[in-house]
Amino acid sequence: MFKEILHGFTDLLFPLNCALCGAYDPSTAEQPLCQQCLTTIPYNHPPFCLRCSRHINRSNEQGLCPDCIQQYPDFDDAWVFTRYQPPMTELIRSFKFHNKTSLRKTFHTIANTFAERHSLELRADLLLPIPIHPVRFRERSYNQSELLAEIVSDIFHIPVNINILTKMLLTPRQSDLRRKERWTNIQGAFKIENSSIIKNKEIILVDDLLTTGATASEAAKTLKQAGAAKVKLIALSAA
Ligand SMILES: [Zn+2]
Ligand SMILES: [Zn+2]
Repeated sequence: MFKEILHGFTDLLFPLNCALCGAYDPSTAEQPLCQQCLTTIPYNHPPFCLRCSRHINRSNEQGLCPDCIQQYPDFDDAWVFTRYQPPMTELIRSFKFHNKTSLRKTFHTIANTFAERHSLELRADLLLPIPIHPVRFRERSYNQSELLAEIVSDIFHIPVNINILTKMLLTPRQSDLRRKERWTNIQGAFKIENSSIIKNKEIILVDDLLTTGATASEAAKTLKQAGAAKVKLIALSAA
């Protein structure tokens, strides 16, 4: 009896149910998805867009996705771990807007799996998470890209800096805007706090979701104008 109560109590504290399907699975103590749901992750796979690395259906002459053909982004290279399809859509929403920060453990598994599949070896001087405006930070109490940058740092041993690139304009959410508006909405939104740290350095930006590429492109442009040698991008998912 006492054991059962104790067990019920620890289950409340450390629920062993999958964050997606709710199935009981002791492995969710390590990361919140059951083994079955983990197999449904839509990993990004070739052919990749030569610039933003999202999956393209058929390799065209330029090797670019429709977004990059329309507006060539300012970052130099990119890696995207997954495609923005279920269940990634739900996982990213929960991670970003519903405090489900424990999902970072699942994203760590995803990043590791992708890196192994593609023998990914990343080298750079610094990882910079795409910042959010202080007002958004107060609403949310964390920056999802910062948590993702810590994962990338852990896997590839590149230091994270959260103080160099800041967001000074409170822009409407990109997800509320049409594709074209996203490029003008984000212009001039970022600021560099200490450009001596990034001078002639290779930088990798980290973001949760790549859609048009406007946000990462603007951040890359701002960093290059401040003296960064190369700016690349890692995104957890791409639409
Ligand atoms: Zn599940
Ligand atoms: Zn592209």
